[in-house]
Amino acid sequence: MGNVPLVDLAAAHAEVAQEVETGFKRIIADTAFIGGAEVAAFEQEYAAFSGVPHCVGVANGTDALELALRAVGVGPGTEVILPANTFIATAEAVARAGGRVVLVDCDPQTYLIDVEAALAAVTPATRAIAPVHLYGQLAEVEQVRAGLGGRDVAIVEDAAQCQGATRHGRGAGADGIAATSFYPGKNLGAYGDAGAVVTADAGLATTVRTLGGHGGLKKYAHDVVGMNSRLDGLQAVVLRAKLARLADWNARRRAAAARYDELLADLDVVRPVTLPGNEHVWHIYCVRIPGDGTPARRDAVLARLHAAGVGAAIHYPVPVHLTGAFAELGYGRGSFPNAERVTPEILSLPIYPQITPDQQARVAEALGSALEE
Ligand SMILES: *Cc1c(COP(=O)(O)O)cnc(C)c1O
Repeated sequence: MGNVPLVDLAAAHAEVAQEVETGFKRIIADTAFIGGAEVAAFEQEYAAFSGVPHCVGVANGTDALELALRAVGVGPGTEVILPANTFIATAEAVARAGGRVVLVDCDPQTYLIDVEAALAAVTPATRAIAPVHLYGQLAEVEQVRAGLGGRDVAIVEDAAQCQGATRHGRGAGADGIAATSFYPGKNLGAYGDAGAVVTADAGLATTVRTLGGHGGLKKYAHDVVGMNSRLDGLQAVVLRAKLARLADWNARRRAAAARYDELLADLDVVRPVTLPGNEHVWHIYCVRIPGDGTPARRDAVLARLHAAGVGAAIHYPVPVHLTGAFAELGYGRGSFPNAERVTPEILSLPIYPQITPDQQARVAEALGSALEE
């Protein structure tokens, strides 16, 4: 009975070890540490994989969001609408771009942004809506776009968790702009921080590249005040090797999710819901442990899983409006009932391409025992 980790980055590395080693040697021989041919090749390959014409590699996913937001004109005096139940980076990126964070609630079953609430929050100051493709499935971006009608509001998709996912056959950013993260634990993970912006718009791609390259496209051309956010050659080696396997890895994640659906069918947990039209890539398999409105029961189950060697976790324990960082927004408890109802119940189970049926059975068994205590 070995432990079952939340993610197994060593197992992923084992599949690409040879390519990474030769690639690292090549980068060191060429001293192509930032940018260069390897990065350009990855950008092309990731754009093709995503079905989006342009890709700009950057330093991390939070920067990717900030750069995409700035590219569409987010800055002082503008507002950006995003869901309350996201990783803090979505809100941080808005604040760093100089915009005002406007939060809305989520759907209680999919945990994705509540489209009606997002549209109702639009004001003359709204510059963008930032749907988050939480856990690996796409939010209903087409409905946000339809609801906006002709209004001049951009859609900046937080695609950090959904590399390879599609909705009605199209990926994040295919009709606009999306930011993604290659944090090591993501479906496509680097060996350090990395990220990218993908977009259908050549002008936006150029703006992102300019802003991320110290405000210019050429060395010592500084046309605007930018920042330093670029992709490293060594990371591009890892990302290219893993990208070649990502479709297969996502398929294995889907098989693992289907297996969990069966294994957990008789347990008193709420299993994840996939929206019709979505091809899910299962960055996270999140269940809910029904409780009394406090996290007490969920936390007890989590502690029992950890004691049994199962690496479960919570994504995310505190909604944005209840963090210290964004308390100043003034929302307070009760502002977003769905996000606040699900947060004390959510629990992420181990999932990764290399997880075995035997490991999943152990997770299900440990969860069953933890629920009974
Ligand atoms: C990981 C993540 C980010 C930030 O990415 P970093 O590369 O860690 O900066 C943003 N949004 C969501 C939803 C994420 O999961």
